[in-house]
Amino acid sequence: MYGPPPGAASVAQNHVQQGLSSMPVQNVGALGHVSNIPISQNHVHPGMTITPIPVQTSGAAQPPGIGAALVSQNHIQSGMPPISSQSSAGSIGPVPVAKYLIQPGMPASSMQNSGQSHPAVSASVPVIQNNIQSAMPPTSQQKSGQFQPSTAGPATQNHIQSGIVPNPGSQYPQVLPPTAQNHNHQGMPPVSVQNAAPNNSGLPSASQNHIRSEIGNSPSLQNPGSQNTPGQPHMQNHVQSVMPPMPTASAAAPGAQIPKRYPAYPQQPPISGPVGTSQTYPSFPQPHQQQFQQPGMQMQPQLGQDGGFYGGPGMSVGQGSQYPRQVSTTPQVGMAQPNYPQYGQQPAQYGHGPAPPAYTQPSAQQGQKRLDPDQMPSAIGVMQEDQQTRGGIFRTDQKGLLPPLVTTKFQIEDFGNASPRFVRSTMYSVPAQLDMLKQTAIPFALVINPFESPAKDEQAVPCVDLGPMGPVRCIRCKAYMSPLMQFIDGGRRFQCLLCKAITEVPPEYFQHLDHTGQRVDKWERPELWRGTYEYIATAEYCRNNVLPKEPAFVFVIDVSYNNVKSGLINLLCSQMKNLIESLPSHTPVGFITYNSKVHFYNIDPALGQPQMVIVPDVADMFMPLLKGFLVPRAEAIDAVESLMEQIPALFGDTKETEAVLGPAVVAGMEALKASNRVGKLLVFHSSLPTSDIAPGKLKNREADRKLLGTDKEKTVLVPQSTYYNTLGQDCVGAGVSVDLYLFNNSYIDVATIGQVARLTGGSVNKYTYFQADIDGPRVIGDIILHLSRHIGFDSVMRVRTSTGVRPTDFYGHYYMANTTDVELAAIDSQKGLAVEIKHDASITDEDGVYIQVALLYTTIYGQRRLRIHNLALNTCMQMADLYRNCELDTIINFLAKQSISRSVETTPQDLKEGIVKRCAQMLATYRKHCANPSMPGQLILPECLKLLPLYVNCVLRSDAVAGTSEITPDDRSWLMYTVMTMGVPSTVHYFYPQLVPIAGPSGSVDDPVPVRCSRDKLSDDSAFILENGIYIFMWIGAAVYPDWIQDIFGVANLGQINVEAITELPDHVNSDQSLRLRAFIRSLRSERQRHMRLTIVRQRDKMELVMNRFLVEDRGSDGQPSYVDFLCHMHKEIRSLLNQ
Ligand SMILES: [Zn+2]
Repeated sequence: MYGPPPGAASVAQNHVQQGLSSMPVQNVGALGHVSNIPISQNHVHPGMTITPIPVQTSGAAQPPGIGAALVSQNHIQSGMPPISSQSSAGSIGPVPVAKYLIQPGMPASSMQNSGQSHPAVSASVPVIQNNIQSAMPPTSQQKSGQFQPSTAGPATQNHIQSGIVPNPGSQYPQVLPPTAQNHNHQGMPPVSVQNAAPNNSGLPSASQNHIRSEIGNSPSLQNPGSQNTPGQPHMQNHVQSVMPPMPTASAAAPGAQIPKRYPAYPQQPPISGPVGTSQTYPSFPQPHQQQFQQPGMQMQPQLGQDGGFYGGPGMSVGQGSQYPRQVSTTPQVGMAQPNYPQYGQQPAQYGHGPAPPAYTQPSAQQGQKRLDPDQMPSAIGVMQEDQQTRGGIFRTDQKGLLPPLVTTKFQIEDFGNASPRFVRSTMYSVPAQLDMLKQTAIPFALVINPFESPAKDEQAVPCVDLGPMGPVRCIRCKAYMSPLMQFIDGGRRFQCLLCKAITEVPPEYFQHLDHTGQRVDKWERPELWRGTYEYIATAEYCRNNVLPKEPAFVFVIDVSYNNVKSGLINLLCSQMKNLIESLPSHTPVGFITYNSKVHFYNIDPALGQPQMVIVPDVADMFMPLLKGFLVPRAEAIDAVESLMEQIPALFGDTKETEAVLGPAVVAGMEALKASNRVGKLLVFHSSLPTSDIAPGKLKNREADRKLLGTDKEKTVLVPQSTYYNTLGQDCVGAGVSVDLYLFNNSYIDVATIGQVARLTGGSVNKYTYFQADIDGPRVIGDIILHLSRHIGFDSVMRVRTSTGVRPTDFYGHYYMANTTDVELAAIDSQKGLAVEIKHDASITDEDGVYIQVALLYTTIYGQRRLRIHNLALNTCMQMADLYRNCELDTIINFLAKQSISRSVETTPQDLKEGIVKRCAQMLATYRKHCANPSMPGQLILPECLKLLPLYVNCVLRSDAVAGTSEITPDDRSWLMYTVMTMGVPSTVHYFYPQLVPIAGPSGSVDDPVPVRCSRDKLSDDSAFILENGIYIFMWIGAAVYPDWIQDIFGVANLGQINVEAITELPDHVNSDQSLRLRAFIRSLRSERQRHMRLTIVRQRDKMELVMNRFLVEDRGSDGQPSYVDFLCHMHKEIRSLLNQ
C-alpha cells in the first residue's frame, strides 16, 4: 500500500550503526525482507525530504537480506557528528530501524540557533511554578535557627516559609531553656506504657524491591516491652466543646442540646425540642400496626401545597404505583417500568426478624401527603451552616478533632495533625470495640490526598534535611520521627505510639528535654510538632541506591487518520510550546508519534534539526536512540518548535487508521528506562487497538452496551485482555506513569486500555467526538492543568497505624505487589486514595488511634523526598461518640469507591441493596442506641449523618456507580476511573452537583448562592449554572430577562444563541455581567482542576433531558427515586430493622 521509495529499501536493509554492531542478533527472520521496512510514501511530504541513511557497516553487521540490526544514523550525511555509541548500546535490541533526517523546507541556517538554551519562560503558569518552587528547600536558609519558643505562632510562620528545618544536628545547645508555652500546642497524647505486642500487621514484607523495602524495613523486634515513663496527658478532648453532648442508650441526656426538630411536615413549621443532637422527623409513615394507622409510606393528603414556587405537585407519596407520582415537564422515560431494585428484602446480615415488605408494597394504598422537600435535611443548608460555624482557622492541635466540611472555606494551622485536606477520616472517634463498630456499620476509612494544594495563605509544607543521617525512625515499625514519638530517658530514647517500641536516639539527633518532657528544640524541628512535613531522602531511599535524575515527560501522539482529521494533531503541535512551558525549564521532554509504526524523535539541539527514527517491529519495541530523545525543556524549545511544524506536514494526508497503542506505551517506557529516568507519558490516542501485528489487540464490545445496568454489566466493565494490566505493571516497575487522553469517535474500550493508567497512578481523560475548533480550549486547558500540578514520581506509600487496627483495602489508581506498599508511578495534587482500616480485634489501648502516612517520592526537580502525614484519632467506648464524630463526605467518598470497585464483581441490584441496607443499619443503630426514646414513626437522624439518605441516593443514581445503557460502556468506565481518584471535595460535588442561580426576574444575580439541586428551583424567568466537576450546564429559562441575554451573549433573544457551537461564553461581550459570569466559570474550573465543558441548555431544548439527570433531588428518568422517596424508603428500612 505504501511502498518504499527508491533507495529506501536498500538503506534499510544494509546499514548497521556502529554502536549497535556488536549486539547479538535476534529476530532475524521476521524482519528480513524489504517489505517490513517502514519507508512509506506517507512519510514523505511536500516540502520535506527524507534522506535515506548511508550505510555504515561494521564488522558485525548482518548481511543484506537478513536485516538484523537495521539502524542507521543519517546525521553523518547531513554533516552532523555521529551519535557516539556507548556501552549502553548493548541493551538495545537488534531490531531493524530506519532513521531519517527530516529536512524541512527551510534552509539549514535558519536552524542555527537550535542548540542554544532558552531561558525558561513560563508566563502562562506563573502561580503554579511558584508553588512548585516554594516547595523546594531554600538551602540558603538552612542555618536560620533562631526560633523563639515563646512566640510559637509568628515564629512558626517564618519557620514554615523558610521551608527548611534549621539547626543541623550538631548544634544543639547544652542549655535547656524552658519552653513553657509549648506543651500547649503539643498534638500528642500521652504514652501509656504497655507491653508492646509485635504489630504483625505493621511488619513489612521482605520485598525485593529496594524502594519498597526502604519504606518499610523488616523490623527488629527490640525492646517490645521496655519499661518507660508515661508522659503526661497533655491532650484534652475538645471534641465535646465542639459537638454537643449526645444521649446514649444507657444514659440519654436530653436537654443539653436544642436540635432542630422536624415537625409532622408539612403542616407545621419546625419546632425545637430536647432530643439530643439528632434530628427528628416525626411524621414519617408509621408501620401499619402502629397507632398512627398510616400503612407503609402513606401520608395524609396535604392541601394547599400544590403550585406555588415549585409550580407543580412536586413530590407525593403513594400513587398506587411503585414510585410516587411526579408531575414534570420532562418526559418520563421508562417510568412505567422503573429499573430500580426491589428494596426491602430480608436483611442478610443485620437482623433475624421477618422480612420487611418490599418497597413496592406499601405505597399502593390509601391517602397521600405532599412532602415538601424543603422540610428535608438540606445539603445546602448543612454547608452554609458549617461555613458559618466552622469557617476561619482550623488548628490541628487536638486529637480526634472533627474538621470542617470540605465545602467550608477554612485555613489550617498545623500543630501536630495533618490537614484534613491531606487526610480525612470517616470517623474521629474510633470505637475501641470491634463489635460496636460492626453494629453501627459505619466504615472506618481514610481518604488521603497526599499532595492536595493548600488553601490561599496556608503554610507550605516544611522540609527537613537531616543530611547523611537521614530520617530518624522507629526501630520496630519503621515509622518516621513525628509528634507520635514520645521522648523519654532524658531525651536519649523515644517511644513510638504506633507500635510502642522504644528506640535509641542517634547521637547526632540527641537533644535535652525541658521540664515538661519536650525536647528543647521541638519548635525548630517540624517533625516534632507538625502533622505534615517532608524529609529529604538519602540515597538508600532511591532506586539502586542512586539519587534520581529529573523525571521526564514524553508526549506519545497517535498520528493516525482520526486525530489528523479531527484537528487534534494541528492543535497539539501548535500549542506544544505553551504546554511544555508549564514544566520547569530543566524537565526533560521527549516525543513519540505512532500509527501502525512507532516514530521516535531526536531533538538534540546540537543536531540543528529534529530527526525521526522509525521502529517498524511494533511487537518487539525498543529504544533506538542513544541520545537526543530527552532534552531539558528550555534547551529543546527550538527543536520542539521545528518538530511541531513538521509533524502536521508529515502526517497531514495520512490514510492510516491503525494506531498501535500498546507498543507506543512500551516505546515511551523503554525510552525512559534507557535514560534512567522515571516520568510520565501523555498518550493521545484515538481508536480501538485492532492491529493484527501489534500486541494488545482488542475486539469491539460495544454491542454489549445494553448490558449496562443488568446483572451482566460486568462483562463490559472488566478488561477483555490482561495485556494492558501487564503493561501497566511493567510501567510501574520502571517508574513510568501513563495519562491517557482519548479522542475516540466510537468504542475504544476504556475499561481495558484504561488499566495502564489505573495501575500507574495515571488518569483517563476522554474527549469523544473531539473537534478542534469546539473542544480545543478544553483539551489544552486540561493538559496545562495536569502538567502544572504538584506531582510526585516513582512513589511508594505506606500507611502505618497503631496496634489494633490496620489498613486492609485500598481504592484508587495504584499498584500493589504486596499487602502494604502502595506503588504509585505518579501521584498528583488531584488524586486521592481511599484506605479502609479494620480492627484486628478490639483496641486494647484506649488512648487513641494513630496513623502515619509516609509517601516516598521524587519531585519534579529530581529530589528524593518523604512526605509524612500524621493523624491522631480518639477512641471511644460510647457509640454516641462515634455518631457525633463522623465525617459524612468522607464516608460517601469511601462508599462510592468501594461500590465502584465491587461493581465489577457483583450485580447492580445486589450492590444497591447492600448500600441501602448498610445505611439503614447506620441510622437504625443510632436510633436504637443513641437517640431519645420517641415515637416509632419518627425518623431520627444523627446530626453528622443527616444527609446520609440524600447522598446515598445520589451515589446510587450516579453514572459512575450505576450508569445504565443511557451512557456508553466507555463513559461508564471513564467515570469509574475518574471517581476512583477523586478526593473528598470532588466527590461532594460530583454526587451532589451545585445548582447556582445566575439570573432572576430582575436580571443578573450578583452574589450567586447554590440552591437545592432540583428542577423545582428552575423557573421561566431565571438562569442557572449546574456543575458537578465534570460538566457545566448553563440552563436558561424561556422568559429570562432579555437584557440579560444581550449582556451575556450579545444577541437579542434566546433563539439566537447557537447552543450547539458555544462551549465558552462569548468573550467579545464585555458587559459587567458577562465579565462576572466568565470569572465565576473560570473559578469553578480552577477549583475543580478540570476545564469543564460549558453546555448551554435552553428551557425545553432536548439537552434538558441530559441536564435533568444531574438534578439529583428529583426523580430520575430511569426510575431513580427522588430524595423524598428515598428518605421515606430509608425510613421504612430503618423501622424494619428496629422491629426485628
Ligand atoms: Zn513504631
